[in-house]
Amino acid sequence: MAHGRSIDFSYVKAQVTMTDVLRLIEWRPTRLADWVRGPCPVHGGKGTSFAVNLRLGVWRCHSRCQRGGDALALYAAVTKQPLYAATIELCRRLGVEPQRKRA
Ligand SMILES: [Zn+2]
Repeated sequence: MAHGRSIDFSYVKAQVTMTDVLRLIEWRPTRLADWVRGPCPVHGGKGTSFAVNLRLGVWRCHSRCQRGGDALALYAAVTKQPLYAATIELCRRLGVEPQRKRA
């Protein structure tokens, strides 16, 4: 566990793309465009209420959740973890070092 240690969020966000997170949570779009839409992986919807912009790296659920955010926030929401714990897990799964080593 990495409790009590700080995460370099700006570094992690530069390493982790929305595409990475969508692949990890096995979400697939139903239509390809700048904003791709599909079933919400957060509340488990079946329609197209979930919109994600791969270019901007942001997502939004227009249905039950009424919330959105960046790739880290999505992973935290889907895995039902606080942002800190979710980021640690995401880094581990993607092979990203959450504490950037400063030479
Ligand atoms: Zn939702």
